[in-house]
Parts: sequence; structure tokens; C-alpha cells
Amino acid sequence: MLITWELTRACALRCRHCRAAAIPNRNPGELSFDDLSRVLEELSTLRAHPPLLIFTGGDPTERSDLMRILERSVSLGLTTAVAPSVTPRLTDEVIAAWSRAGVHAVSISLDGPAPEAHDRFRGIPGTFAASLKAARSVVAHGMQLQINTSVCPETYPTLAATGALARELGARRWELFFVIGTGRARDLPSLSAESTEEALVWLARQVPTAPYRITTVAAPQFRRVRDQLAAPGTWTGGPVIKEGRGFAFIDHLGNVAPNGLLPLAAGNVRERPFAEIYRDSPLFRALRDPGRLRGRCGRCSYREVCGGSRARAYAATGDVLAEDPACPFRPEGAAA
Ligand code: SF4
Repeated sequence: MLITWELTRACALRCRHCRAAAIPNRNPGELSFDDLSRVLEELSTLRAHPPLLIFTGGDPTERSDLMRILERSVSLGLTTAVAPSVTPRLTDEVIAAWSRAGVHAVSISLDGPAPEAHDRFRGIPGTFAASLKAARSVVAHGMQLQINTSVCPETYPTLAATGALARELGARRWELFFVIGTGRARDLPSLSAESTEEALVWLARQVPTAPYRITTVAAPQFRRVRDQLAAPGTWTGGPVIKEGRGFAFIDHLGNVAPNGLLPLAAGNVRERPFAEIYRDSPLFRALRDPGRLRGRCGRCSYREVCGGSRARAYAATGDVLAEDPACPFRPEGAAA
């Protein structure tokens, strides 16, 4: 199980695609260290294999107790990763301290292979150079590096070059975020269904020889595309983790959502144990049942391994179970 945990919404960057519409200062209502610690304890007792945690934001380094949180998480046996923003706070010393604390992986964003594109996207000049430095520092301190790339009409033409840069940096995973019109990205154009498909086919062709794992966010049809290119009808790409099925998001106030891009709270960890919310809330239960999907996703033979992006369906229609408009697949045509 994978849990992304937004420790704060505070962030010094002004990224144009920001899901969280991050703000300059911390919200006084954020979960306290004691709140966090109690939930971490609960998570460490879940099943034989406790979840992998990714601490994100905003910028998690805005929290002065971040080191304590990481140490607590690691000491409870939780596999711990950090997704920081690249700001002057992210120094080599900070990264080295995370490594000493036992942090497993760090993700760094690269939205283009050169300064102009990346810095324009991130809103602050110099962020590209600082990102390369931070990425190298992560690898030098022995942690796994993940490169995150936003995919939208602006970044799409340079995807191949960005992937090559991720290879050069020694990334172990390249995660591509297919932009959804939510948060600050509401006004950012997203890729058409056809361009999304084209991007996914290109990515799927990279999989066999890529030096890193390639994963997508908000484009679960990547599994359908991979399957169609490999051996139609037989998904062999490993365990499927998706919204409500092995994946959850906790926001800075303690709300539990299926995904950071899907602003629907199923409960709050201040009021109920995480496991109870994940297991019993009507929202999570609905997402675990592909039989409740509507439109093309509901009729699709890939609904078990894909199911469409629930966040995009919700952003586009207000219905969390509607079909994913970024997928051009016609299940009826495929059957014919
Ligand atoms: S129609 Fe829906 S379930 Fe089928 S591949 Fe497309 S997004 Fe996935």
C-alpha cells in the first residue's frame, strides 16, 4: 500500500500546475507532530507489510519538525520517502540528514530538459539548476532518486529529452503526472485524449529498455496501453495500485482522500482511524468496485487493471465514477 501524505501546503514556489494551490505560509490547522505520530503508529501495525509513505506538500521542508517526523516514521519500520520542493531549504546537508535517518527515496521534479522550460513552469528562475544539484545529491547520499515530470501540451514535446536527463541523473523511477485541471492547474491546458494515448504508447515502448521504472499518475490507461502492446488481455505488469485500491492520500488537515488530485474527503484521521476510513467509507468502497464505473470505463474489459482516472473524471464531470475523458479507447470497438 502506498500513502501520499501532504504535511503542509506551504511552499515558496508558484508552480503553474500545483494541485494543492500551495500557499506561502503554513496553516495553523495542520496536523501536529503528536497527531502525525499517532497515525504513523497505527499505520505501522497494518497487515504484515506496512505502507510505503511519501511525505509531500506544499513543501514538506517548510515544517520545522520534518526531521522528527521522518525519524519517527523510519523507527516504526515504515518505508519512508520525501517529495520536497526545490528551494534554498533543500541543501546537501538536509538531503544527507534524510539519508542518515533512513529515508528510502526522494523525488525531484523536472518538467523539461533545460532551464527555460522548467523555470517558466515552476515560476522561479534557477530552479532547474538547483533541481539537478539536488537530484545528484540524493544519489550521492545513497537514496533512490525518482524524477517527477508533469505532462501537458507545454512539456509534451520535450518528454524524450527529459527522460534522457532522468537516465543521466541515475533515477530509479520516472513518474509522469498527466495534468488535471484542479488546483492552480485549473487554467492550464491538458493533453487531448489522442495526445495522451500517443504519449502513453511512446512511454510503453520505453519500458523494456528503460533504466528506471516508468509510472504514471492520472493516466492508469498506461496499463491498458502496455497490455495491448505486449500480450493483449493478460496484464503481467505486476500489482495494480490505484485510487482506493492500495492507494490513499492524507492532506495537511488530516482529511483522507483517494488521491491528492481528487478533493473528496472520506474521513479525517483526527476523528477516525485511518484503516477504518480506508476500509469502510462509502467513497473508498465505491472506488474498489469496478462494477460501479459508468460510461466507457464501466463497459471496458480493462476496468480491473485501469478503471480510468477517477480524479480526472471528477474534475471533468463532478461524478467520481464517470468515464475518464482522457482515454480514447472504445471498448465496444475493441470487442468487435
Ligand atoms: S475506457 Fe476507462 S477503463 Fe478502459 S482503458 Fe480507457 S480509461 Fe481505462
